[in-house]
Parts: sequence; structure tokens; C-alpha cells
Amino acid sequence: MKVLAILYDGGKAAREEPRLLGTTENRLGIEQWLKDQGHELIVSSDKEGPNSVFQKEIETADITTPFHPGYLTRDLIAKAKNLKLCVTAGVGSDHIDLNAANEKKITVAEVSGSNVVSVAEHVVMSILLLVRNFVPAHEMIERGDWQVSQIARQAFDLEGKVVGTIGAGRIGYRVLERLKPFDCKELLYFDYAAVPQHAADRIGIRRVEKLEDMLAQCDVVTVNCPLHEGTRDLINAESIKHMKKGAWLVNTARGAICNAEAVKAAVESGHLSGYAGDVWNVQPAPKDHPWRTMKNPLGGGNGMVPHYSGTTLDAQYRYATGTKQILANFFEGKEQDIANVIVTNGDYATKAYGQRVAAKV
Ligand code: NAP
Repeated sequence: MKVLAILYDGGKAAREEPRLLGTTENRLGIEQWLKDQGHELIVSSDKEGPNSVFQKEIETADITTPFHPGYLTRDLIAKAKNLKLCVTAGVGSDHIDLNAANEKKITVAEVSGSNVVSVAEHVVMSILLLVRNFVPAHEMIERGDWQVSQIARQAFDLEGKVVGTIGAGRIGYRVLERLKPFDCKELLYFDYAAVPQHAADRIGIRRVEKLEDMLAQCDVVTVNCPLHEGTRDLINAESIKHMKKGAWLVNTARGAICNAEAVKAAVESGHLSGYAGDVWNVQPAPKDHPWRTMKNPLGGGNGMVPHYSGTTLDAQYRYATGTKQILANFFEGKEQDIANVIVTNGDYATKAYGQRVAAKV
């Protein structure tokens, strides 16, 4: 079978560090394994435009792991005559038109849970670096300056603050779990379904049924829901109005969940004290993307980094191993782990809420 992997170029770093598995150089560590079984692996980072490797090779690929991401649109799916399986080497399959995949009975799977700890740790770090005004403090030191009051005027403790997550699945739940020892005033969540009572009680979290109500109570909001029609632009000029003046916002879910211009305006006006995350509405982010340089009126409040929270070396090992397992199941005709399946046999897979949360309690 022909497997088409769209990965990013790791360059010198990937040549020096073989554990950078998610790169075109190190090929998820599956090249020899596939060859040994008589399969063909095509790897590229070239994914834009009709002449790109991705758009040409997809026409005859049986399997693809388009997680650079290569956007698998309805048009491309229509052209992909042999495509049976799309594997997201990680978590989040919003780069695939799932309705179009269903119409062609293509299975979409991801390595659920593979990088949820990595992302949750990054969220906790981002919350702390915003609340404690860390980035401008470090920049001051690099500049050779020393003006403590400049930094301290916008540095706070996390203790006593209200933190809420939009989405309390694998990542959102883990974020709240990790925040428990910080003695926040309250840990809140907004999600379609309630976290099972024993899991909620264990870490002392409270569900808020309306998003606006949660936004209005939070000092810190963290976004941990998937990108879909219902969450695109969920945080926009209107919803930001419900947030407390001076609140902080962290988004490691998907860039397009937060409106780029609305966030910039809110940070620059000081309505939001800061914004941090690693996901962008266009990736790689253009050099002039407003989130690269936006600052609050006191010169801080920006904790943006490239998309790497879920791609630590530990996570890369887990998602490469998970991708290999999904491929092995497919080749051997074995059933996939239900937790990894997004769509199959022409329908959305049922991912029971309890099953997801049960994994972490
Ligand atoms: P998950 O376990 O599926 O949890 C997501 C939760 O959000 C689910 O409970 C889901 O409910 C809920 N949800 C969906 N729409 C919502 C809405 N409009 N409002 C509130 N909650 C909503 O997924 P996860 O593993 O925690 O991952 C969450 C997202 O993080 C992924 O989809 C991906 O986009 C992102 N992510 C980013 C990175 C990175 O490197 N930055 C890495 C991994 C994942 P239902 O299941 O009922 O829809």
C-alpha cells in the first residue's frame, strides 16, 4: 500500500536528534517497518497548491498522515481514489473534511491522549508566565535593565484566582487537575457534557452551563475544545466583552477558535492583560501576524510560541508509536481502539464522554 506522510522539515535539529520523529527526516520512525512489509512510504512537507507532493500523491495514496498539516479538503478527498485511512499523528483532526471523509467511508483516526500531558503542562506554564508577567521580566534582564517595579506592577499570584476551561476533555481536565495545588479560588469548566461526578469531586471543579457566565467569573480562561463549526471564532469581540477586565486568555487548542483581530484589540486596549498559546489561524504564522508582537499597554501580556506544546520528544515518541499501532491494526484487519477513531464506516465514532475521562481518573 502507498502511505503518504505530510510532516515538517526538521533540518539540522532533526539530523542531530533522531527522536524528532515527526519530521520529514526521521519519518515517524516507520519507514523501514513499512518497507519490510512491502509498503511504500512517501514523505514530504510540500503541501500547498495543485503541484505540491501532497496534492499530487494523494490521488493514489491508500493511507495518509497529513499532520503538518496538509488540509484534506472535500476536493482533495474527491480526487483521492484509493484513500481508506487518514491518521493524525497527534490529536485534532480539524484539517480533514470529516463529512467528505464519511461520504467516501474513509476512516479518520488520531493518537488520542498521545500529547495531552504535554499540552496540559504547557497550558499551566503559559498561565503562570502571563499571571506572573514573566516574559517582559526576562526580556528586561536580556536588555541589561533592572527595574523591578516595571514588572511587579503587573505581576500577580495564581493563588486565589478563578480559572476556567472551555472544554474539559483529556487536556482541559488535566489542566484543572494540575492547577489544584495552586489553591485557586475556583476551578470552572464549560463543556457539552458534565465530567463524571467522582472525577469532578476528586479535583474540586464546578461546571458552568453557559459560556458567557463562565467567562464573566474567570481571571484566567484556557481553551481546550476542538475546532469545529461551533467553535470557530468562539472567542470574538462579543465574547471577550463578557470577560473580566484584566483577565488572561490561554489557547493551545486551535488558533481559529479565537478571532485574531479581536484578541489583539483586547490585549492592546488592556481589556485582556495577556494572551498565550502555540496555535495560530495560519501556520506557519506570517511574519506580520498580529499575535507575534501584540502587547498590553504596560508592554507585556504576550506568551505566544510556535506550535510545539504537543510535540515534546516524549510526545513524539507516543504519537509515532500510536501511528504505527493504528497502521498495524489496519494492515492486519484488527479493530482500532475506539478512543482513537474520529469517523469510520461513514459516520462519526461515538466517543463516550465517560470513556475519555475515565482514562485520567
Ligand atoms: P477531547 O478529549 O476530545 O476533549 C475536548 C472536549 O471539548 C470534549 O469534552 C468536547 O466535547 C468538548 N467540546 C467540544 N466542543 C465544545 C464547545 N463548543 N464548548 C465546550 N466544550 C466543547 O480532546 P483533547 O485531547 O482534550 O484535545 C482538545 C483539543 O486540543 C484538540 O481537539 C486539539 O485541537 C487541541 N490540541 C492541541 C495540541 C497542540 O499541540 N497545541 C495538541 C493536542 C491537542 P464533545 O466530545 O462532546 O464534543
